[in-house]
Amino acid sequence: MHPGAGTRLVALLGDPVAHSLSPHFQNAAFAAAGVDAVYLALRCDGSAFPGLLRGIAGAGGAGNITVPHKTAAVPLLDVATPVVERTGACNTFWSEDGRVHGDNTDVEGFAAACRALIGAPAGARALVLGAGGAARAAVAALLEGRADAVHVLNRTIETARALATALDPGGRRVIVLPSREPLRREGYDLVVNATSLGIDDADPFPLDLELPARVGAVLDLVYRPGGTPWTAEAARLRVPAADGTEMLLQQGAAAFVRWFDRAAPVEVMRAALAGGG
Ligand code: NAP
Repeated sequence: MHPGAGTRLVALLGDPVAHSLSPHFQNAAFAAAGVDAVYLALRCDGSAFPGLLRGIAGAGGAGNITVPHKTAAVPLLDVATPVVERTGACNTFWSEDGRVHGDNTDVEGFAAACRALIGAPAGARALVLGAGGAARAAVAALLEGRADAVHVLNRTIETARALATALDPGGRRVIVLPSREPLRREGYDLVVNATSLGIDDADPFPLDLELPARVGAVLDLVYRPGGTPWTAEAARLRVPAADGTEMLLQQGAAAFVRWFDRAAPVEVMRAALAGGG
């Protein structure tokens, strides 16, 4: 469908956005579903971002938000879902009844990726590396999925403590590790990389997988065709592993539902992602 006067703009707002795969698989989904919309990536800094978000929604458009604007988006919303309130982050926006709505579909995306790898996380013990936006989504999904314990290890301990306070104010299930040392005595059903390590080939592994007493499975939120160096290391150790592609796909499918109020053509999106950008 060629863009016309009635075409809806769906935009990815962030910086950088040049390497995002979202335009590729979302436009494939729009074509397959026959919706009159176009998905574009718009690189914007902190001063342009608020005007773009409110302006696009005001013109009937919608979109996604990525680094570094997910937190800054929250006070710009008229209606935020409870997941946005809990995680303090918004990655999807749209307009409804003249108001700007926002959700954080990274949580749903992580939950689906986790289910595909280990099944429901109920009763599981997990280790999350990192404490930024992706880590918040992972911890929120694990708590929602009734994981037994979620340990968090981050380079900056204060950020990890802020995450724990926000998501588990009672301090019952989220434990911040002060260092790697306790890992020697800990076993985990799932270890998640939610740091930025692995984006660059020269990066060290986010964790030596032989350090914890047991690692049942590895989920690297960094995505790369064919897997990441860390998922390859997991395979060498015969630990089931997945990269962040399924989470990317599922957060996008959930966003599609918010924008168009209809089921997403998930297999079309999966095929587009597998085919590359
Ligand atoms: P973010 O909010 O900027 O957080 C980055 C995290 O990485 C922080 O915990 C930071 O620690 C840590 N970190 C950065 N450089 C490090 C280093 N050299 N050594 C150790 N830790 C380091 O970013 P984000 O949005 O959470 O994204 C994190 C990763 O998840 C990215 O790779 C992103 O591509 C991926 N992601 C994937 C999906 C998906 O759909 N698959 C969705 C969202 C994000 P400090 O607190 O110490 O700075």
